[in-house]
Parts: sequence; structure tokens; C-alpha cells
Amino acid sequence: MNHDYGYLAANWAAVRQRVDAACREAGRDPAEVDVLPVSKTFGADAIRAATALGLHRFGENKVQEIREKAGPLADCGIAWVVIGHLQTNKAKDVARLASEVQSLDRWELAEALDRRLQAEGRAIDVLVQVKTSPEQSKQGLDPAQLPDFLARLRGLDTLRVRGLMTMAVVADESAPVRACFRLLRELRDRMAGEGHQLPRLSMGMSGDFPLAVAEGATELRIGTAIFGRRA
Ligand SMILES: *Cc1c(COP(=O)(O)O)cnc(C)c1O
Repeated sequence: MNHDYGYLAANWAAVRQRVDAACREAGRDPAEVDVLPVSKTFGADAIRAATALGLHRFGENKVQEIREKAGPLADCGIAWVVIGHLQTNKAKDVARLASEVQSLDRWELAEALDRRLQAEGRAIDVLVQVKTSPEQSKQGLDPAQLPDFLARLRGLDTLRVRGLMTMAVVADESAPVRACFRLLRELRDRMAGEGHQLPRLSMGMSGDFPLAVAEGATELRIGTAIFGRRA
């Protein structure tokens, strides 16, 4: 390795401490809240250094990056988690390389993944990404479509639906951000009433995770606070 990645250990310890503090503040058990390190744009060396800290799941938003990193890191036992908008024509690589998809947001994609996963003889965990913010740019399923979408997903054996994912609005005040997280939790609770078990809520990033913890996140997707600023 050419670089000294000692800062990763310090960043990781600081993140976990801040997450634990947010849990205490919210009256929650820190054991209920996982951190998914987001390694997008960072190279295989940095990720390898992170595995020495006991981290073995990494979030990436581009399948192309997983393709590039999976080979050099094949000895590390990494579980790659897709968190970014996924084009249907990437389904084959996802079926081959990913352990999980958190950005499932449409039926066409679910069908493509199912077809490719059947060919690979695999099944993966998925979270349904829901659009909880009014911003035009945010990806995700319209909340009104969630009941039908979950019902249809029951017909696809290769996709194990475990929960919901969202990205909050970007705002200076906490209230609109928190409202996005609260909406995801409320949707989850409502779906439980229709018999859908969705224990996992993936929400919260480096800049807003304490609010997500307060609203019931079970998993925080954190990049910058662990790996540093992206170029
Ligand atoms: C990049 C990214 C993150 C992490 O963002 P940070 O602000 O760097 O913590 C989380 N979720 C998604 C979907 C992302 O693309």
C-alpha cells in the first residue's frame, strides 16, 4: 500500500461514537443501528485498509465501480451493497457481484434483477427506495405505489425484501429532513399492517444521521465521515 490510511481508524471510531451518542439521545440501543460505509469514488487500497477495521460491507452507487474493485479485493470477503440509481442493463453485473440492492425503485428493474439472479442461481436482500422528499431530482418510488409494489415483489423468489431506504431532502433546517425520515418509518409501520415485514430502515448520511436515528433508522449510509471528502 502506498498510502497511510491511519485516519480511517480515527474516523471510524469517531463515527461509531457519534452514532452511539445519537442512539442514547434517542433512547435507543446502539446495537440496533448499523453503519454501512459508503466507499464510492475511493480506491481498492482505502477499502482494503477499512477491512482491517472489521468492516466488510460497503455501499457503492455505481455498478461500474463495484466491477473495478471486486477483482482486486476478491480476497477480502466483501459484501457489495448497491445504493445508487440502477439502470436495468446493469442487472447482470449486480446479480453476479452484489450482495444486496438498496435502490430498488421500479418493477422493470425488479424483473430484470430476478431474471439475472435466477440465471446465477442466487437470491439477494433488497430494500425498496422510496421518494420521501419533494425534490425533483431524488430517485425513488412514489409512496402511493408502495402497497402494490410490495405485493408484486412477493412473486419474485430471488429478491428478499427486507425494508425501505430513502434519501432526505437537502436543507439547512432539521424539520424538513426529519420529516422525510419520519415518513419512511410511518410507511413501514403502515405496510406492517398489510402483512409486509420490513424490519430494516436505511436512512441517514454523514450530514443528517442523528435525525435518522431519532426517527428509527436501523442502518446509516456513511461515506464522507469515514473515508473523507470525495474529489
Ligand atoms: C454517497 C451516498 C451516501 C453517503 O453520503 P455521505 O454524505 O458521504 O455520507 C449515502 N447514500 C447514498 C445513496 C449515496 O449515494
